[in-house]
Amino acid sequence: MKCPECNHENPDGALECSNCYLRFRSPLVLKGDAGTVGFNVRQSVSRPTLKRLCADDYRFATSNPQFVLDTDGTDWFVEPGTSTFATHINSTPLTIRTKLNDGDVLSIFVPSSSGPGEERAILSISIVGG
Ligand SMILES: [Zn+2]
Repeated sequence: MKCPECNHENPDGALECSNCYLRFRSPLVLKGDAGTVGFNVRQSVSRPTLKRLCADDYRFATSNPQFVLDTDGTDWFVEPGTSTFATHINSTPLTIRTKLNDGDVLSIFVPSSSGPGEERAILSISIVGG
């Protein structure tokens, strides 16, 4: 992730900037079945990030932000993106900025091609550090 101070590109999940030594606070880690991605600053999550997280399920995402992760320096929040597919947090549709807690599960709901009902991709959210 980019350092908010000096724009240096650091490895995901880094606790401090390797260039200016700014200490990142409360990294948020998204965990999917294909891998984990860490966040230190506000960032929208769309297909490229989801591809690193959820194996084949990234195909459900579009290039529009699926959701936006934001931090006030202490807590993390998730906001709905502009994707046409719904994001659910713990089975509740995400419609407003919502505080994230360790263990929350974000899901992307897409219409099923085989009839009524829905498919979903599941991401579990973990928050480390603080
Ligand atoms: Zn820096």
